Amino acid sequence: MTFDYAGRVRRLQDRMHDSGTDVTLLSVGADLPYLTGYEASASERLTVLVVRQTGDPVLFVPQLEAPRVEPGQFEVRPWGETDDPVASASALTSPSRVAVGDHMWSVFLTRFQKEWTDSDWIPASEITSELRVRKDAAEIDLLRQAAHGIDRAMARIPAEVSFSGRTETDVARDLGALTLDEGHDSADFTIVASGPNGASPHHHPGDRVIEAGDLIVCDFGGRLGGYCSDSTRTFVVGEPSKEANEVHALVESANEAGRAAAAPGVPCQEIDRSARRVIEEAGYGEYFIHRTGHGIGLEVHEHPYMVEGNDRALEPGMSFSIEPGIYLPGRFGVRIEDIVVCDEAGSESLNQSDRGLVSVG
Ligand code: ZN
Ligand code: ZN
Ligand code: ZN
Repeated sequence: MTFDYAGRVRRLQDRMHDSGTDVTLLSVGADLPYLTGYEASASERLTVLVVRQTGDPVLFVPQLEAPRVEPGQFEVRPWGETDDPVASASALTSPSRVAVGDHMWSVFLTRFQKEWTDSDWIPASEITSELRVRKDAAEIDLLRQAAHGIDRAMARIPAEVSFSGRTETDVARDLGALTLDEGHDSADFTIVASGPNGASPHHHPGDRVIEAGDLIVCDFGGRLGGYCSDSTRTFVVGEPSKEANEVHALVESANEAGRAAAAPGVPCQEIDRSARRVIEEAGYGEYFIHRTGHGIGLEVHEHPYMVEGNDRALEPGMSFSIEPGIYLPGRFGVRIEDIVVCDEAGSESLNQSDRGLVSVG
């Protein structure tokens, strides 16, 4: 799978021109691989792509990492251990306005700021998020492959993963192994939140031993071909209580309402409202304590965000999560999360695994 990297760089340069940005500096983070296919190591040795409004970008890369760079429509300048890459990079231009990758380390940013003392500085996402927010067919294909891998992992859980009497950490290890087994290049995060821990949406799996009757929020994902997966299902050990059943059914309805609302032209906040309304009308509004979703692509959380106040209209090619939840402190939690892509006709849920309250052993 190859992407049109040169076309992406040209679109960035158009946006830089329109916004009066003279140079964009990209280091660690997703913008650099989006434009070049190369991902910088997060290291004390600087990797930086210098993009000006015209001409080919220049990639300064530590000499020992240069062999990893695949040639492309950019110039590669390896630097040796005694060189000063900030001095070399900043000598290329004297900009009045600079866009800096959101994740560039301050140890490098402050060096650049000493070289270019009269410049204005903006985070690169002000320019790049707009480039990345609509996915092309090749990107959607990778997101779909990743989502289907997680769906297959979810489907294997009831038969292959035992919960009762084991710790959350044990279960998390199994879910990571299933993720890799189903074709992911990496398993990047695994939330296993059992019983009362389920009320903490971003719980880190720990040594709590899972018991009969527990609900378990399983939220995991990784990367395939550079693109992220992220899906949540809530399981029950044995038989659920009546209330657990009701709360789960409510979250399932909220997830469905969010997915049904997703279509071109609909404001992002309307996705949040559609899901939230179902939960509020049932009296659980105060227990849905986060936004309904986030964009997903090269990063697991990126624009656009499905949150009150975001009136940005959905467009075909936008990919994002719909993940309503109810979190009852000290008791249990439920979340159901799908990755959805907006298309011309409406939207498609890339995740299709059983959303019901599936019983595990
Ligand atoms: Zn989350
Ligand atoms: Zn998630
Ligand atoms: Zn998510």
